[in-house]
Amino acid sequence: MLEAAIKEQLGQYLQMMEGDVVLKVSAGEDTVSREMLELVDEIANMSPRITVERTTLARTPSFSVNRASEDTGVVFAGIPLGHEFTSLVLALLQVSGRAPKVDESLISQIRAIKGSYHFESYISLSCHNCPDVVQALNVMSVLNPNITHTMIDGAAFKDEVEQKDIMAVPTVFLNGESFGSGRMSLEEILSKLGSAPDASEFEGKEFDVLVVGGGPAGASAAIYAARKGIRTGIVAERFGGQVMDTMSIENFISMTYTEGPKLVASLEEHVKAYNIDVMNLQRATRLEKKDLIELELENGAILKSKSVILSTGARWRNVGVPGEIEFKNKGVAYCPHCDGPLFEGKRVAVIGGGNSGVEAAIDLAGLVKHVTVLEFAPELKADAVLQQRLNSLPNVTVVKNAQTKEITGDDKVNGITYVECESGVEQHVELEGVFVQIGLVPNTDWLGDVIERSKFGEIIVDRHGATNVPGVFAAGDCTDSAYKQIIISMGSGATAALGAFDYLIRN
Ligand SMILES: Cc1cc2nc3c(=O)[nH]c(=O)nc-3n(C[C@H](O)[C@H](O)[C@H](O)COP(=O)(O)OP(=O)(O)OC[C@H]3O[C@@H](n4cnc5c(N)ncnc54)[C@H](O)[C@@H]3O)c2cc1C
Repeated sequence: MLEAAIKEQLGQYLQMMEGDVVLKVSAGEDTVSREMLELVDEIANMSPRITVERTTLARTPSFSVNRASEDTGVVFAGIPLGHEFTSLVLALLQVSGRAPKVDESLISQIRAIKGSYHFESYISLSCHNCPDVVQALNVMSVLNPNITHTMIDGAAFKDEVEQKDIMAVPTVFLNGESFGSGRMSLEEILSKLGSAPDASEFEGKEFDVLVVGGGPAGASAAIYAARKGIRTGIVAERFGGQVMDTMSIENFISMTYTEGPKLVASLEEHVKAYNIDVMNLQRATRLEKKDLIELELENGAILKSKSVILSTGARWRNVGVPGEIEFKNKGVAYCPHCDGPLFEGKRVAVIGGGNSGVEAAIDLAGLVKHVTVLEFAPELKADAVLQQRLNSLPNVTVVKNAQTKEITGDDKVNGITYVECESGVEQHVELEGVFVQIGLVPNTDWLGDVIERSKFGEIIVDRHGATNVPGVFAAGDCTDSAYKQIIISMGSGATAALGAFDYLIRN
């Protein structure tokens, strides 16, 4: 089952196991069961610490990863290869007694959770957002005997996926009820379970530089500020920003290739190397300039700072037609890499003919039965090379001059209606999925009228990263910078931090 290079690497990891692990396997006569048994046996043959037992679990094929003395509640239903192979390796190590690489404070929070929590996460093996969720829930399960977690590969349990109407991964259920979908960090899951810090924990905090946003711009700004030896904080709704949703990165200079979550892990490590107060999972809702600049958080806390750097980035733009919100995760999706496999053999539309739309259509065409690309303008805006590739695909229809009017459905998407701009004639296409790929909007609405912005909502900055309000700087995708890229955001974060430092020494 495993390629030689992966096997060699796995062998090294298995040597790090600290105790015995028992894999309890529930297998039938089907192909997936046979392949799962092959994988489990292959792994067990690589370490004297691993033994395999046959059993019957709630799902077949599946296997649980247990200590010799007790069941842990960590179960893999289906074969955890692809992006989930790392989840399996980590589960083996952690169940064997190796401490997870998680902050001590989070470990204590997990251990303190009372009550019974049974998580089920539906994933696809090609989803790059899924391992974070699977690994976080596995860590919780390993650390707390009241928590169990089953990872379910949607491709191996298609009937269950259909029956539960799951159209986005990861989708998590807790004790049989829907818990959430999309990427979630361990901190986010704990916060959803009600163990988030309240306003009192932020009382009286004062900074020289307070960065709002934890993407590449914010991380860079904070590091540059902290290196000046001044009091620095970061408030971020989700540390990592858009990079967390990026699969492959090939244009981050100095690295030929990396992956979003890997880059975010390095950013976090770099930020944590300095004395920076990171307030993750906190949303800023209001900014006001008084003697100091005040930043209000969603939980009601007010933070004060002599200067602020806004680096709140951008988010997917909604198409804003009836059906989009109603059928989100019920056929309306934004991430083709993550959710594409759930539409295997089905018909989908991609709204948007720019680079991201055409890339999505090419990607999806390899999986689904048919892709309809809807572009509002008379021509696609994607690069010529992408258009050529798109036009060469037999199962893609491109409709230009098409204004999307409605995404239709009952309990999930069943079609899309558009208007032909030239004739005004309405057309309806029956399909099961709609991917919206029409660009991004800056996360700046919360600033009200305080900070000057362009007609696109982007914060207007000068060459020092300064905004119209003295002491308030901005960087990255939330600004009117000409291009939106990781390296550009990092550069502008550094500029804004140096601008803020210059402001502080003059005021
Ligand atoms: C799918 C995809 C693929 C991409 N691929 C590449 C690529 O290959 N190469 C490349 O160079 N670029 C790529 N980009 C673009 C790149 O990711 C962005 O340019 C970059 O992340 C912008 O960084 P940022 O820090 O300005 O904003 P973001 O990454 O958007 O980060 C914004 C931060 O602000 C936080 N935030 C937002 N609102 C608030 C609030 N009110 N309060 C507190 N915090 C808030 C967010 O949680 C987040 O932490 C890609 C983008 C996407 C979506």
